[in-house]
Amino acid sequence: MTLLAIVSIALVSIALCLIFFRQFTSTLRTEIKARAEMFREMSAAQLMATWHAQSAFVPKDMRLTLIAPDGMVIYDNTVDAAKLGNHAERQEIRQAVAMGSGASVRYSDTLRQQTCYFAVRLPDGFVLRTAKTSDSIFALFGRALPPVAAVTLVFALLSHIAARRLTSRIVEPINAMRLDGEPIPPYDELTPLVRAIAEQRQRIAAQFANLAERTATINAIMDGMSEGTLLLDPRGTIVAANPSAGKIFGFTHPVTGKHILELLREPHLAKLARQALAGQRHEETIQRQDRDYRVYFSPVASGGAALLFLDITASRKAERLRREFSANVSHELKTPLTSISGYAEMLANGMAREADQAEFLAKIRDESGRMLALIDDILLLSRLDEEKTESAFAEMDITQIATETAAALAEKAAAAQVSVRIAGQENMLLVASRSLIAELFFNLLDNAIKYNRPGGMVEVGFSQEKSGGPIKLCVKDTGIGIPLAARVRVFERFYRVDTSRSKITGGTGLGLAIVKHIALIHKAEISLNSREGEGTIVTVVFPTSG
Ligand code: ADP
Repeated sequence: MTLLAIVSIALVSIALCLIFFRQFTSTLRTEIKARAEMFREMSAAQLMATWHAQSAFVPKDMRLTLIAPDGMVIYDNTVDAAKLGNHAERQEIRQAVAMGSGASVRYSDTLRQQTCYFAVRLPDGFVLRTAKTSDSIFALFGRALPPVAAVTLVFALLSHIAARRLTSRIVEPINAMRLDGEPIPPYDELTPLVRAIAEQRQRIAAQFANLAERTATINAIMDGMSEGTLLLDPRGTIVAANPSAGKIFGFTHPVTGKHILELLREPHLAKLARQALAGQRHEETIQRQDRDYRVYFSPVASGGAALLFLDITASRKAERLRREFSANVSHELKTPLTSISGYAEMLANGMAREADQAEFLAKIRDESGRMLALIDDILLLSRLDEEKTESAFAEMDITQIATETAAALAEKAAAAQVSVRIAGQENMLLVASRSLIAELFFNLLDNAIKYNRPGGMVEVGFSQEKSGGPIKLCVKDTGIGIPLAARVRVFERFYRVDTSRSKITGGTGLGLAIVKHIALIHKAEISLNSREGEGTIVTVVFPTSG
């Protein structure tokens, strides 16, 4: 606005000067022309005479020059004529000689002044010239400049102030506008802008909500994962870590922002992390806080890497148990087989005395019986391991199964001088596998008889607090009991408290392992209570659906 004011004032001033100057110059020309025309009909001699006689005729404000036809100046009212040179070549004189009159304008050396000339040819061939000097257009501009500049300055100042006021009147309401909620435009011209802002805000809010939802989903997945997860940016800084990863590394405070090498201090793991960041996949097993983890170092396509920690402790343990089991089985089978082959060898070579032969044969029978029992147990266990129970689940009265099992073991009990009693309610209905429950009773009763003392007692008790509720089964004996340290281990495969006694009683060491497995299949809880020298109680609680 200020610039516009300055330019317009300057242009208007220039235009006014020009118009004024033209007007002024044309007046000046008319004046000198009129004066020259006044003397047109007179001869040079007459003119001279008139001017001499009456100096009033000689104009004061105008220069008069009389020039002879040859160009010689013969009179000038302002300058000494003798000092003036030949004027024949002057433009206005040449025109006057040729056409009767002539005009021209000439500037002084400084250009500050201009002189207008008008010449007429007199009847006698002499030329009369009138001239008047005035300020040139440049001088006019020069004089007009200070006031114009002053006016321009004032207007520039005013327009500057006005522009400021106007700007603040436009801008201030915009700055003061509240953009939250439904923004109200302070004036109509802003309505489209305000509407666009409101729309933009809505779009951003929707995108933000979308993003927050996605982040929440990812966090929920990460937090819920039992696998430890660490996400690294391309420089190896941890950008995300889930609680499972926290547990593995034992940190309670957030590790995001830390470098991965602060967590993986082992040089070979640090190397794998670096290789993953460089785009190479790796797997490695590590130990942390007594647990085994399989770690997957995976590069991420968009840069960075993901580290996944899988807890493989259980599967490693299972694998170890399987290996141990195979070794144990071989060992357990080898012992009876060795004695069988020993006795058979002696019999075959005729090295056994006649009297001993019957005993050797009985030993072979007993040992092969043990082997068969062992193999039966192993087969049953491996079937249970496969979690395929051939006999389907059905509803049955388990007290009846207990009675049948006790009857099957009556002879053995009598031989050991142990009395077996089934107590408690009758008709305990349970949905279970008949053959497995029979196996369970068999093993528990067998143990209670085997590890008893002559004259001892075995009591099988059932109880159910409310119909449809859990069924509690107790097998109680008055036997030798189990030492405290062995109580947890008796459920392990091939574990025996007293190996020599087990040998005598013909135990395989698998009975309680089978019982535990069968209980597991029926989702039953098993517990053992014992007092050394007094007896043992094994309790199995079956949950019933009712
Ligand atoms: P086994 O075939 O040798 O009886 P089990 O798995 O049935 O194998 O039992 C493991 C060990 O637990 C036995 O060797 C025995 O030492 C001990 N045990 C089991 N039941 C009893 C019990 N009722 N009283 C005392 N000791 C027992």
